[in-house]
Formats: sequence, structure tokens, C-alpha cells
Amino acid sequence: MSINPQNNPEKNKNMKTIFADAQTRLNEVFKHVDLTDDVEEKLKHPKLSLSVSIPMRMDDGSLKVFTGYRVQFDDTRGPTKGGIRYHPDVSLDEVTSLSFWMTIKCAVMDLPFGGAKGGIIVNPKDLSRLELERLSRGYIREIADIVGPKRDIPAPDVYTNSTIMGWMADEYAQIKREQLPGVITGKPVYLNGSLGRVAATGRGALYVLQQWVKRNNLQPAEMTLAVQGFGNAGYHFARLAREAGFKFVAIADSKGAIYSEEGLEPEKVMEHKEEHKDIKTMMYCDGSVCDFQRYQKISMEELLGLDVDVLVLAALENQVHKENADRIKAKLVLEIANGPVTSEADAILKKNYVTVLPDVLVNAGGVTVSYFEWVQNRGGLYWEESEVNDRLKNKIDREAKAIFDLAEEKQISLRTAAYLIGVQRIAGAITEKGTKEYFQNG
Ligand code: NAD
Repeated sequence: MSINPQNNPEKNKNMKTIFADAQTRLNEVFKHVDLTDDVEEKLKHPKLSLSVSIPMRMDDGSLKVFTGYRVQFDDTRGPTKGGIRYHPDVSLDEVTSLSFWMTIKCAVMDLPFGGAKGGIIVNPKDLSRLELERLSRGYIREIADIVGPKRDIPAPDVYTNSTIMGWMADEYAQIKREQLPGVITGKPVYLNGSLGRVAATGRGALYVLQQWVKRNNLQPAEMTLAVQGFGNAGYHFARLAREAGFKFVAIADSKGAIYSEEGLEPEKVMEHKEEHKDIKTMMYCDGSVCDFQRYQKISMEELLGLDVDVLVLAALENQVHKENADRIKAKLVLEIANGPVTSEADAILKKNYVTVLPDVLVNAGGVTVSYFEWVQNRGGLYWEESEVNDRLKNKIDREAKAIFDLAEEKQISLRTAAYLIGVQRIAGAITEKGTKEYFQNG
């Protein structure tokens, strides 16, 4: 185990790291608000970066060692919070960036949390279920000293789910010899999870989109959407948005994309995906609608360039970058994934009058209901699903309105407005602990 609190990740010296790109968003914020230098200095450095080796016995008896990370970016506003990702491309740079975005996001939603993130370099699709369980328990054993309900609270992210969170909470209880369900959120409902958590990210994204649509006098029934990423966040968003009257013409997962001018039914696409493991094989007629319901296979780049009203990015970071940003024809980009648009692409989209609804607001439904789960775990009193959804709607609606109003008033992007609100809250907490000016005067 190695701890490097001054970690400054650089994956490739010739490339701008994801973290360096994420940080450029702050420069824009500092142009609009006069904050003490302490804030800028503090937000440059993750508080704690932990890198661990997880030895694991594979089903065939061999021993394999996996690399995992946990980064706690800033805890000025409370215990740190953020998901755990299993992906072959996980790196310390990526996890650090994600922990930075979590810090901003928790502040944008005014949750009493700082930001963190974790990950393991692994393709979970290559593991058996027993191997996945052993790896998940092994990871939590390695990071057990730095997590806890009052310190750092993980949750699911890409290629992790409620079952994995349940294993981790169970392992943590065995280590600590007491039940501490508040150590992790996104657990199964039968293991002290919260009702409404599974769909919370998609639901929150829908609330943001609906508020934008209403504010701009648009009609859902007249709007077409394309979604990249069809996992927990993308699927539940698509399912709920279609119920709310929006039309989906294209859906993509990591293996391919499909298009239908007539519109796609997210539930049917998911049924097919679960049966066949990908959606690009979905080239069949769909019962009674056979004559007009034909799906066309398209490439990922074609999906990104479709002439739709809303392009929904719900997969991974860096999907829209300076090489392809000019090809985006959608009028609105909904960032459900974390960091799917680079800062260079942001500038190109702005020039092309494409509005971006930013990740730190759009996907905050997940962490908000994770917060509700933590509150329920600690209070021991569990809420009805309608109460969870109502509280989520109130919180998202309030923060979205504040961001939309500020962007309009200051004539700045929605992303800068969201960051401005979040950073000011973090700055408030930093300032209350004393600044250079305060101590000099004393
Ligand atoms: P998931 O593992 O459930 O699904 C990921 C989806 O993305 C899968 O459908 C996968 O096939 C697809 N995908 C992966 N690489 C792709 C590629 N290159 N092109 C197209 N599709 C690709 O993960 P998730 O939880 O839905 O997370 C998706 C994004 O949303 C991530 O950026 C995550 O950080 C963010 N997010 C998730 C939550 C949550 O509660 N799950 C909360 C906030 C943000």
C-alpha cells in the first residue's frame, strides 16, 4: 500500500491528462468570482491518493494481482463520496479527475460531502461471478482503513452494481466486527439500500432535461434523442424519458449502435441486450410493427453526429473532443457520463451554438439518492420510494433553476454557472477555517 497525498498524475507527458483538462474548468470560474488564493491552491491537489495491489486466487487456482485506487479529493465540506469503477482503462489520472468532479458535484447539489472516487484495472466481463466477488471483497479489505460512514463512502460506477456494493458492505462489517451500512451506498434494497437508488441517476437527468425543456418552451413529443451508453445511467434515463414523451432514435453501448427513425423502445432494446449481451445484433422485425420498426446498425461516430435535438452522453469521459466536436449536430448535449466533453470540445460546441447541460448537475441524481441512503442508514428509518423521488426532484429542481438563472444573468455557460455555485460553497467552507487575510489581520 502506498499513500501519496501530493499526487500529481501524468499518464503521458505528451498528452494533456484528464485531470489537467478537468482543472482548466476552474480557470473559467476564477475569472468570474474573486476568491482567496487558498481555494485555488486547495483545489489543485487531491487530499489522498491510495494505490493498492489486490492479490486474488482465480478459479483455475492461479494467483493474479490486480491494481486498484481510491482518491479522496477534498473533504472540507464533509466525508468524501464517490463511486468505484471496474474497467481495463482505469488509471490514477482518471480516478483523480473523477474525484475532483465529485467534489464539485456534491457542492453543486449542496450535499454535506466532499469528493472521492475509486477503481480497479480489470475487465469484469473476463471474470466468473466468484472471481468478481473475491476481487470486490479484496479491494475493500485493501482500502478499509481509509473508508467509513464518517470518512469516505463509496458507491457504484461503471461496471459495478448493487450486488458488488452489498459484498463490499458485508466485507467491511466483517473487518470492523459491526454493522455499518452507511459505509457504502447503492446497496441492494434488502441489504439496507434505498428505494429509488437504481434509477436515481437517470431520473435526476430527466428532471434536469424537463426543466430545461419547460424553460425554453419546447415540446418533448417533438424532440428526438440519441443516447450513447446503455448501462445503469443511460438505460433508466431512456426508459423514464420515453415514458415522459421523448422519442429515442438511436441507442449505443460499447459494442455498437442502432438507429430507427420511427423511434426505439428502451425496454425492448434492454431485453435484447440482456439476452444477447449487446444491442448491435438487434436487426430483426419487432412483431406487429415489423413493417416500419426496422433498426439500422450505425457506427459510434455516426451516432454522435446525428441530427437530433438532444445528444445524451451516458458512457465514459472524453467522448466528444476537439477532433469530432465540429460534427455534433444536436442542439443540446446532456452529459449523464462524467466528463464526456473535453474543455477544447466545449469551446467548439459553444462556437456552433450547441448548449451543454453539464455532468455536475445532470448526473447528480445518483449521489443525491446515495446521500439519502446514507441518511436512512444512519437514522435507521427507511423512506417510501415516492418520498425519495420527491426529495430528489425538489433538490435537483432547486439547483438546476439556480444554475440556469445564473448562466442567464451573467451570460456564461451552464457549466461555468454550475461550477461557480459549487466552488463558492467549497470556498465558503475553506474560508471559514481561516485565510491569509484573516490570519494577517490577527
Ligand atoms: P454502466 O457500467 O452501468 O454502463 C456503462 C455503459 O456504457 C454500458 O452500456 C457500456 O456498454 C457503455 N459503454 C462503455 N464504453 C462505451 C463506449 N466507448 N461507447 C459507447 N458505450 C460505451 O455504467 P453507468 O453507471 O451507467 O455509468 C455511465 C456513466 O455515468 C459514467 O461516466 C459514470 O461515471 C456516470 N455516472 C453514473 C452514476 C450511477 O449512479 N451509475 C452516477 C453518476 C454518474
